[in-house]
Amino acid sequence: MQIRLWQESPQPCSPTALMYSSCPVRWIPSPEYGYVAQGRNLYELILGNSSAPKSILIHAGIHAREYINPYLIMEQLEQMLECYECGSFHGRGYRELLDGMAVHIVPMVNPDGIAVSQFGEGGLRSPELVQVLQACYAYDTASGRTKSSYAGYLARWKANARGTDLNKNFVTGFGSDAKTLLPSYAGYPGAAPFTEPETLSLGAVTLLCRPSVIINYHSMGEVAYWDTRESLYTGINTEFSSYMLSLVPYKRMGSGTASGSYLDWIYSGDNPVCSITFETGNAECPFTFEQYPKIWLQHSLVMQAAMEYAYIH
Ligand SMILES: [Zn+2]
Repeated sequence: MQIRLWQESPQPCSPTALMYSSCPVRWIPSPEYGYVAQGRNLYELILGNSSAPKSILIHAGIHAREYINPYLIMEQLEQMLECYECGSFHGRGYRELLDGMAVHIVPMVNPDGIAVSQFGEGGLRSPELVQVLQACYAYDTASGRTKSSYAGYLARWKANARGTDLNKNFVTGFGSDAKTLLPSYAGYPGAAPFTEPETLSLGAVTLLCRPSVIINYHSMGEVAYWDTRESLYTGINTEFSSYMLSLVPYKRMGSGTASGSYLDWIYSGDNPVCSITFETGNAECPFTFEQYPKIWLQHSLVMQAAMEYAYIH
């Protein structure tokens, strides 16, 4: 079992929970889904019945500075593993729910970028990628996109290590909301859709497991996005988002126009999907772990609720 990825961030999911839970759990490290630019593995984890026709998907960490959310997902996972035999939600045992579906978890979509946000240049081993960071800073400084020190700029890094904003690198609406035409700490969609291994990997997981429910974790603002103007699935998402927002007291946001995000992409696909994007925390990213206890209280039942919704619909 590989949990190497989380050596680089706090690790709430204890090895004990992973090793001794009777819940079926399977790790899929790269190269099945690909290495990211620095050679770090991308991981998918499948909880429950991986051959069941129903599945849900939860992912976090697509934006580098929002690294509180991989931590949150790992604690959700730990809770599910520890309480697999005895836990229940609205009268349905976790075991019953997990016997009937697969929960696909991509806990950290952008590990290179997260390493940059946490450790600056020290998060990257490749001199070429360090040069990318320096070039981005020079460009963003010259164009007035940042007034920060270099260290502060890297802490606010949102992109992957190649300066591409992964949540603008999907195909639906690609480039329509580009904040910059060159690699940058944030807002650069890439030269074309799906140029980045992280985007390809999350896309591949989504196409392979065809989830009926997808939970997207971002930060910040304690708000929730649930719809887009072009979405094919507004109807089914109205009920789903209302249910999730009855559990997580976040403000419902309006519908934006497609701009190459993951949400835009899944709402344009042929797989009917219920989805919601939670923006955790109420301080500027990257925020400290002082925010975390409240975030955990707000989100400790999200995985169960998503499973329950997929189970009965
Ligand atoms: Zn984000």
